[in-house]
Amino acid sequence: MNTSIYLHIPFCKHRCAYCDFNTYAGQEDSIPAYVDALIKEIEFVGRQRDSDSESQQGNDSTTRLYDYSTIHTIFFGGGTPSLLTAPQFDSILRALTSAFALTADAEISIEANPGTLNLQKLEDLRKTGINRISLGVQSANTEELRMLERIHDFFTVIQSVTEARKAGFDNLNLDLIYGLPEQSLASWKTTLSRIIDLHPEHISAYALTLEHGTPFGRWSTKGLLPIPDPDLAAEMYEYAEEFLEANGYAHYEISNWARDVEEGRKSKVESPTFDLRLSTPSFTCRHNLQYWHSLPYLAFGAGAHGYVDGYRYSNVLRIKTYIDRLTNSQSTNLPFPLSPATVNHHKQTRQDDISDYMINNLRLTQAGVAESDFRERFGVGLLDVYQKEIEELIHLGLLESKTSEVLKTSEVYRLTKRGRLLGNQVFVKFV
Ligand code: SF4
Repeated sequence: MNTSIYLHIPFCKHRCAYCDFNTYAGQEDSIPAYVDALIKEIEFVGRQRDSDSESQQGNDSTTRLYDYSTIHTIFFGGGTPSLLTAPQFDSILRALTSAFALTADAEISIEANPGTLNLQKLEDLRKTGINRISLGVQSANTEELRMLERIHDFFTVIQSVTEARKAGFDNLNLDLIYGLPEQSLASWKTTLSRIIDLHPEHISAYALTLEHGTPFGRWSTKGLLPIPDPDLAAEMYEYAEEFLEANGYAHYEISNWARDVEEGRKSKVESPTFDLRLSTPSFTCRHNLQYWHSLPYLAFGAGAHGYVDGYRYSNVLRIKTYIDRLTNSQSTNLPFPLSPATVNHHKQTRQDDISDYMINNLRLTQAGVAESDFRERFGVGLLDVYQKEIEELIHLGLLESKTSEVLKTSEVYRLTKRGRLLGNQVFVKFV
């Protein structure tokens, strides 16, 4: 089983008022030093993996379940990764390909903000091997974009999509946010119809959350910002489900929709199959599927989180500290996959792993949790662990079970339409 790599690029031109990601505005001068530090971290972790593997030879009890030398997805997230130049991406990708083997069909994604791209840059990015772009669109409404403090307007989105197509990108995701203060259903409908006019292969739509410590969080506590109406947000979500499926997008994860590869350009697809991930090649985000299937991933960069061999680990948050640690540290005796930037690492308990598996896999609205996969992973039946919880959730109409169309003999459990709206009520049962 191959693994995935996440790289965090914590730079933004402006810090949006709702954002609680680990990202910083006005520090773009540090980008060259940050890229150097990222490369050092990649080289360091690659060396540690090789020396760990050598010391493990002949010791079968520590044989790894996953192949940490072969990578099938790479994701540059942020922040605004598109603030990096194509040569900077090229040097990072060269470091990755010398430390790891990439599968021939590896998915290499970057997050990008419309307004940080132009045709020449997109062509240069495509030449580096990047083959998927996730554009932070958020809304097609000028007032909403202004309220979110985004630096682009919708015309810039149209330009970016058009130029990305010209540059040869045939796998685009457009990110949206709904449930904004004072956003109407009519405005959300307009955003969705403008988005599908652009024919992206993939669409993500997340409800706005008012996070503590952000200006939006503070303003709403003080009564300065109208709190989004949760019933209206639920109506917007249900509308997106119907509208996107009617327009050819299979709803494969609570907040994510993808075109089918075969049917990609047709306006409508038949009702998607039950086990989408197993039976239908599509433009699903393979990198995020790694998370949702609770499979391992390595992480590089300030504040990046990784998951390897049942360990979760994370790096120091601040850009300067990250650069200093990679530049000045002499430590060489850290076990794979830790680096001088690591500040936290802990082994998950078996129950943590089981809970995470349930919460992640139930997000997959069609694939859900397959009994056979659970048994293979944990050596015990799903109902032996969660019979009471599952029966209760089925009784409440939040979960349903069905015999898998692909796995034939296996029972699959997934969220009902109501369960998707009340996901947190379901997930809490498995913690
Ligand atoms: S552009 Fe994205 S990552 Fe950057 S501050 Fe705005 S929301 Fe956060």
